Amino acid sequence: MNLENLKIVDREVAAEIEKEFDRQQNNIELIASENITSKAVMEACGSVLTNKYAEGKPHKRFYNGCEHIDVIEEIAQKRACELFHMDHANVQPHSGAQANMAVFMYCLKPGDKVLGMDLSNGGHLSHGSPVNFSGLYFDVKSYGIDENGNIDYENVRQMALEHKPKLIICGASNYSKIIDFKKFKEIADEVGAYLMADIAHIAGLVAAGLHPSPAPYADFVTTTTHKSLRGPRGGIVMCKEEHAQGIDKAIFPGIQGGPLEHIIAGKAVALLEASKPEFKEYAAQIIKNAKALAQGLMDEGMDIVGGMTENHLMTLDLRRTGKTGKDMANVLEKVGITANKNTVPNDPQSPFVTSGIRLGTPAVTTRGFKEEDMVEVAKIIASAIFSSDNELGLQNLKERSLKLCKKYPIYGDK
Ligand SMILES: *Cc1c(COP(=O)(O)O)cnc(C)c1O
Repeated sequence: MNLENLKIVDREVAAEIEKEFDRQQNNIELIASENITSKAVMEACGSVLTNKYAEGKPHKRFYNGCEHIDVIEEIAQKRACELFHMDHANVQPHSGAQANMAVFMYCLKPGDKVLGMDLSNGGHLSHGSPVNFSGLYFDVKSYGIDENGNIDYENVRQMALEHKPKLIICGASNYSKIIDFKKFKEIADEVGAYLMADIAHIAGLVAAGLHPSPAPYADFVTTTTHKSLRGPRGGIVMCKEEHAQGIDKAIFPGIQGGPLEHIIAGKAVALLEASKPEFKEYAAQIIKNAKALAQGLMDEGMDIVGGMTENHLMTLDLRRTGKTGKDMANVLEKVGITANKNTVPNDPQSPFVTSGIRLGTPAVTTRGFKEEDMVEVAKIIASAIFSSDNELGLQNLKERSLKLCKKYPIYGDK
């Protein structure tokens, strides 16, 4: 990490960045939506491209001097289309939420009906939560998961038939099972709805061919680039050719101004990395690690929503322990494990307290953790939760976490 100039100009910010590096280095990151991007991606993101205005799209810009920017953005578009087998990609969304907003802007009018997954059941804010633009300006109906942690497709179908939504959204922020995109397509076709697949969480698994692709079925595929795909923070919206112009217009001038071309360069690099055989191995290890973690936790007597995970994440169900997600996420932080509280199906606690903790393996897998390390992580988690009042015990567990972190340094060095 080279902060040579920053240290001279702004010691305050430089010092906090260094502390954040140490925090990442010395803690086990189990937040399912986080990852550790490559130095190559960070170099692209920290480049002179941040100086350039490039409103519009390649070869149709509102500013001059875009000849190199155009090449970079076209490389990113091409790589996204190839990796996800879609006709068209717009790589300008500043985030996953912006990618989703573009689809809403393109195919809906305020008040139109949308069917999406409920936030507290694993959906995302931008899929129609009442506190998000998607829930404020559109008429949203939400489906959830059953007690076994599965989407009830027949229930989704019944809701679609009853409400006749114009857009159906599939994809989630906390769902541990394979998503059946074909079933969603059949339901969408039955009611004449557009289908949007938001693969923000599973993009890396889809890219590696380890989760079925929505490409044959969805009109729109949206994603983030910083989760399992391991790129810079940002979004991509992809679609069939017939929607390409409309989606581009929705991004600009619809909802955004100038694109972040330095981040787009980082996306291009990440998409190249994700197309390599090493990435397939990485994605396979993410799943192996998640299964090892889930099995380890169950062996320690803990409950997982829906039992064994089929992807990169799971939700620890704390109801039987009598403890809350909020308290236990804080206890895990004490032992050097970062994770977030999360609701479980029919959660008796409020969304601010919750009875669950979401755990994911993309970041630790990037560091090099293998199955046996995940078993150790499971033991640390279970011990911390079962003896959360034992300060000395927690101190000891933190040492065990640190030992794992030392074994697998991030970026090798600073
Ligand atoms: C993370 C996520 C998003 C939003 O991504 P941001 O970059 O945080 O805006 C959208 N959809 C799903 C399913 C997500 O998990």
